[in-house]
Amino acid sequence: MQVSPTIRLQLEAGLFGSVPIFLGGIFNSIAVAAIAVWRQPTTPFFVWLAVEIALGIVRLPVLLAGRRALRNGKTPPKTTAAILSSAWAASIGFGAYFSLTHHDWVLSTIVCLSAAAMVSGICLRNFGTPRLAALMVFLALAPSTVAGTIVSQPGLAIISIQLPIFILTIFSASFVLHRMMVTQMTALSDLEKSEFFNRIILESSPDYTIIINEQHDIIFFNRPNSALSEQGDLIGSAWLSLLHPADREGGEKALADVACKGSANLTTRRLDADGRLRWFDVIASRISDDSGRILMVARDITHQKRSEERALWMARHDPLTGLPNRAVLQDELDRILGTDDPAAALLMLDIDNFKTINDTLGHDAGDRMLSTFAERLQAALGEEDLVVRLGGDEFAILFSARSDADVWSAGARIYAGLCEPFEYQGKLLACGASIGASRLWHDGANRSEIMKAADIALYAAKTAGRGQLKLFESSMRAEVEGRETMVAAALTALKQDRVVPFFQPKMSLGTSRIVGFEALLRCTSADNQVLTADDIKAAFDDPALCAVLSERMIERTLSQIERWLAADVPFGHVAINLTAADFRREGFVDSLLTRLQRKAIPPSCLQIEVTETVFLGRGAGYVEAALRSLSESGIKIALDDFGTGYASLSHLSQFPIDLLKIDRTFVQRLGQSPEAKAICAAVVNLGHCLGMQIVAEGVETLVQENALIDLGCDVCQGFLYSKAMPAEAIPMVLLGQDAKPLRARRA
Ligand code: C2E
Ligand code: CA
Ligand code: CA
Repeated sequence: MQVSPTIRLQLEAGLFGSVPIFLGGIFNSIAVAAIAVWRQPTTPFFVWLAVEIALGIVRLPVLLAGRRALRNGKTPPKTTAAILSSAWAASIGFGAYFSLTHHDWVLSTIVCLSAAAMVSGICLRNFGTPRLAALMVFLALAPSTVAGTIVSQPGLAIISIQLPIFILTIFSASFVLHRMMVTQMTALSDLEKSEFFNRIILESSPDYTIIINEQHDIIFFNRPNSALSEQGDLIGSAWLSLLHPADREGGEKALADVACKGSANLTTRRLDADGRLRWFDVIASRISDDSGRILMVARDITHQKRSEERALWMARHDPLTGLPNRAVLQDELDRILGTDDPAAALLMLDIDNFKTINDTLGHDAGDRMLSTFAERLQAALGEEDLVVRLGGDEFAILFSARSDADVWSAGARIYAGLCEPFEYQGKLLACGASIGASRLWHDGANRSEIMKAADIALYAAKTAGRGQLKLFESSMRAEVEGRETMVAAALTALKQDRVVPFFQPKMSLGTSRIVGFEALLRCTSADNQVLTADDIKAAFDDPALCAVLSERMIERTLSQIERWLAADVPFGHVAINLTAADFRREGFVDSLLTRLQRKAIPPSCLQIEVTETVFLGRGAGYVEAALRSLSESGIKIALDDFGTGYASLSHLSQFPIDLLKIDRTFVQRLGQSPEAKAICAAVVNLGHCLGMQIVAEGVETLVQENALIDLGCDVCQGFLYSKAMPAEAIPMVLLGQDAKPLRARRA
């Protein structure tokens, strides 16, 4: 039979076990040998007694040494013990033999009975080593079998038949006993192993394991990652009492489900020792015996639950201000519109000059401004009014309003809350807002119409000078739709590749000749209609669209310059208009210079026009670096619309500016307004003092031209000379000026 080494060791240990049987055997054999000497004092019996005593003396220390070795985990002297045991069995056998062959039947009876008793002892003690037991039984009984055949005593021969049968019976009993023990020990060992594994699995499980009895009391409890010995504290408690009171009903239902379906799932909560709520996902299953016990595996899903709650919250709130977001507003609008009496108003708010604060003071200041703004709105309104952040610097408020007066009074409360300046790092900043309002039902039949109406009113408030509330009126719609039309027209023109530069000549007042052109954006159409840049000006307000338009203009203008250079057209230079959005584009300047090189366009053929707005805001650093690179490469920079923006005079020395373009609002009042003349004179003088050329734009009349000549202006541009023309017309215009100058210099 296949036996594992551990079990074999345990079985072999039997050689050194059962001390009483061992000692009983020794004393019994010595006693029997002594009785034999007493009855038959002949040499064989003396020798037998001596052998028994000697064996007893030798075997005892071997037994003790073996037990000690086993206790210490060492190998016991198995072979020595086996040899000595066999010798002892043989001595019994030979004792019986001599007793029988001496014809002393009393002695023979004592010896044979003792031998039989000792054979039983051998079997009991050595079933773990059945071969040794068999050998010992053989050695103890075989001599008696032989004696039975040689002693001429009728009836004794029966021993020779009985004993072998007895030996065989004992042999097989010993082997059966051995097999039974091995089977049982193997089963026990397997059980121990599996218990050990189960414990390891339980103790390292990330889940709570609970077993409850039929009365639903806990009879087994295991916390994740802790030893089973530490788990006793909940034993005996009612499982339902562990659940959060609000989950008890669910717990009872789960128990009922387990009773009828065998298993159930349950999500439950429990307050931990620190008073924090923890969530558990519990799977309960009936244990498949008839004990009525239920196994519960509970997983702590608090982390997952919190993430879910956070995700849900995030989906409907703005993390910066903690206000609900657009989705909440939309739902609430739908809900109110679904009621019989939707007497409410929607306000849309936009923080005035937020972009400037964000750009000049950084995003931290912007974030603080948004949070303060949100707090002030909430403080100005009632608990039941919904304040929402729509995104960026746009907020919305939905509140109950029965009349326009209610809307105005809400607006007044909001402005009162915002009037105090907002303080950031010692600076006081205005916390103003423009507000557009629409009323439910009155200004739209559904959610999107009402939101759109408030949006349009907001736009009207912004264009009317900000810091005010406007109620939606249907006339406002036209303005917004006009802007939407402009953006759509720009997008269509881009898509159909109809965005092209037209060129407006720039006249030198000194030579009366064209010194260059300004490239102005035009959208052509199939029916020869041309949209000017002004016609689509709303498209320039979208930085992304503005960048695409500029890119198209740059590409087209550079290609045109390349063709004119190749055809020797004496166009002088071409000025292109750029915005702050262009300079913010990654690698913009490098790409422009690379394209000039690739097309072999000398930098003197190109001018860049920027307005004062590019010097303001957070991107001013980039703009300065970009303009400096362009200027260093030989491209001239013109400051467009000079006098209309917010640039300070220090910008003129800080940035590399070569030309000043007097805005046409001043030029066009020349001859009518002495102030306009004074401003133009001041600009000409300032520019000349700083070594700049002066270009006057929007020159439409001779009066204006003459005034500019008197002021010492260098270059003029305007309808007096020509509107912007398509590129094909330019060579003819340049040729024509030789025959007849566009405008003659005043004599
Ligand atoms: P701007 O740079 O000041 O361009 C001059 C504008 O004045 C042009 O209008 C031009 O047609 C117009 N103009 C020229 N002479 C006269 C005149 O004698 N009288 C009057 N009343 N107007 C005159 P346009 O082309 O509609 O451009 C408007 C603005 O759009 C431009 O002002 C410029 O700021 C912008 N723009 C034009 N083309 C581009 C472009 O390619 N890129 C960028 N970023 N902006 C452009
Ligand atoms: Ca310009
Ligand atoms: Ca201009």
